[in-house]
Amino acid sequence: MNSKSSATSPHQSPAQRAEELRRALEHAAYEYYVLDASDLSDDVYDSLLRELQEIEAKHPELITASSPTQRVGAIPSDAFAPVEHAARMYSLDNAMNLEELDAWFDRVESARAKLVTSAPQSQITYNCELKIDGSSIALTYQEGELVRAATRGDGRTGEDITANARTVRDIPLRLQSGLLASLPQLEVRGEIYLPKSHFEQLNKQADEAGEKPFANPRNAAAGSLRQKDPAITATRELASFIYAPADKTHEDLPPNQHGFLDVLRQAGFHVNPDVEVLTCRSDVMDFCTAALEKRHDLPYEIDGVVIKVDDFSLQEALGYTAKAPRWAIAFKFPPEEKTTVLREIRIQVGRTGTLTPVAEFDPVLVAGSTIARATLHNEDEIVRKGILVGDTVIVRKAGDVIPEVVGPIESLRDGTQTFFRMPTHCPSCGVAVHRDPDEAALRCENINCEAQRTERLRHWVSRGAADIEGLGTETINALISAGLVSNVADFYALSFEQLRDLPLGRTKADGSETFFGQTMATKVLANIEASKSRPFPRLLFGLGIRHVGATVSELLTGRFGTIENLMVASEEDLNAIEGVGPQIARSCRSFFSVPENRAVLQRLIGAGLNLKEEALTDPALQSLAGLTFVLTGTLTNLTRTEASTELKKLGAKVTGSVSKKTSYVVAGEDAGLKYDKALSLGVPVLSEAELQDIIQSGAVPQAVSVQSGAEPTNIPSEDL
Ligand code: AMP
Ligand code: ZN
Repeated sequence: MNSKSSATSPHQSPAQRAEELRRALEHAAYEYYVLDASDLSDDVYDSLLRELQEIEAKHPELITASSPTQRVGAIPSDAFAPVEHAARMYSLDNAMNLEELDAWFDRVESARAKLVTSAPQSQITYNCELKIDGSSIALTYQEGELVRAATRGDGRTGEDITANARTVRDIPLRLQSGLLASLPQLEVRGEIYLPKSHFEQLNKQADEAGEKPFANPRNAAAGSLRQKDPAITATRELASFIYAPADKTHEDLPPNQHGFLDVLRQAGFHVNPDVEVLTCRSDVMDFCTAALEKRHDLPYEIDGVVIKVDDFSLQEALGYTAKAPRWAIAFKFPPEEKTTVLREIRIQVGRTGTLTPVAEFDPVLVAGSTIARATLHNEDEIVRKGILVGDTVIVRKAGDVIPEVVGPIESLRDGTQTFFRMPTHCPSCGVAVHRDPDEAALRCENINCEAQRTERLRHWVSRGAADIEGLGTETINALISAGLVSNVADFYALSFEQLRDLPLGRTKADGSETFFGQTMATKVLANIEASKSRPFPRLLFGLGIRHVGATVSELLTGRFGTIENLMVASEEDLNAIEGVGPQIARSCRSFFSVPENRAVLQRLIGAGLNLKEEALTDPALQSLAGLTFVLTGTLTNLTRTEASTELKKLGAKVTGSVSKKTSYVVAGEDAGLKYDKALSLGVPVLSEAELQDIIQSGAVPQAVSVQSGAEPTNIPSEDL
């Protein structure tokens, strides 16, 4: 009778419906992320997910760890607990060329010949796989449910990164029913990687935020997996390829590598499709050359081919050296390097005033695309590499993506080459430049520097920021030349006539001047108006504060709620935020202390821009600012994630471990060690009911003290 959810049939319990939804969502995710083919539209997926979330909100007891709603569920934590690997995670020996590969075949064959003396020997089969350039991972499943993910670490001990791995969409949280799902315990290994496209995007964002880019997709993947906050990992679009069991002796498992890959595939893992089982050496070599040729066409990075003896029992018999298996070898691709002539080193002035030397060279085709310039980062780098202007240089792509000058070929110098010196004055505005104490970079600190001005304005109107369509570089330059715009607040003071009559600095075919015109002026004014209500984090990002990228902007707006709060926040307050380091804190502080910047912000506020977080408009709601909560045990009326979100909305910090600095520990049912630790440190403990009072009233009770009456009954493993 009281069944409100329309989709639940009268005969179906919420538990049954939840399970049905989970199956459907798992299947859709599998088709989408693993098979790359999905029938389900995003809308339908979202709608099913929302239904499941609703059921789980009403019946928290039905939430399972592997529910699709729980991918980003964990609370950020400071430490990754060490994990001892049940079986060692080995590295691989390398073959740098085909001769070395041939020598490895010889070693395998002669070792095998010694093992078996009688009976004619069959040919050895080899399983050839692509060598994915990512970060290795070990996944443990218990009865088909993902319970732990660990990095390789030193091979014996890795780090527990379960919460982050759960956010990787193609890692099954629950296995499809079958052999692997039924095992009490299963550990598989594979590689986590970042697709090339996303790597480029990530570095573009880093660049926009004035941060150091990742050197290659491998570092980006490893860095993303080790984020303190799983919510950040979740934004990284990581993916996986799984390729091996930890334990190969299990009698129900296939006895060879290619059979095991099939079983992995059936269980729902993402297994790389480019696999071949071969017996003939020359076929293996062909596989290597073919892989080398197609590497640039693949959406992910590979740095070689891994050749494995297919048969598990032969693998075991061949055994291991101190660091690598004898039964496998990595055929490594040579990095693709080309030579060209470096014509000029140009200075680029970035949005934040950094002067970056950029090498301009004759265009060359490297790793699948033509490149003509590469950043040289700073003067030290140029000296270290010994590059002269006019040198014949070796160029390549770092991580197969980013153009890089490796160094000069000195023997090709003819005396015409010249030393390069960084300018003492900004090439754009002519003001003397300063060396940044934080970095090796030179910086133009003139707030009115034109190069920076254009870049700042362009950044403000860009899509991830205020998103004002119709204001391209040409228009912005015209507005600057006309003296109408010099900082972002000026956009909001533009009149219709000013825009309409703006000369664009070019002439039509008949020789008359081109103006912005009525139609465009109307459109752009509407777009400027609309930009006032962009979400606060995007507007903050648009200000172009050094080191404040899109993600950091969200952290800052989430914590401070309004631009006014943020403007007066101390370096200490800023530093206290999870995910905000001293460098970010310093750069915010210095940005907000510049009077010119404050004036611009006041004008933006006056123009009615949305410089506040919707949910946090009332400063009274920020009542928990400065308090740190730790949640432990099982809460009955809401999940820990929900509780954590609510607390954070009120300005509190939620962490994973109890220390003297913890303000309150909230102990649910079966609270464990964290509860004990709270008692021993004298940290006040709250019950779930008290937590709910806090969430509802937005304030902590007057006198909360250590409760001795509510001893927890036992210590659950989850908390250990
Ligand atoms: P390296 O780190 O260069 O010594 O190479 C060894 C690493 O290659 C392993 O630890 C794996 O993380 C990685 N790898 C990538 N693809 C594969 C694959 N198909 N089979 C085995 N290892 C792989
Ligand atoms: Zn300048």
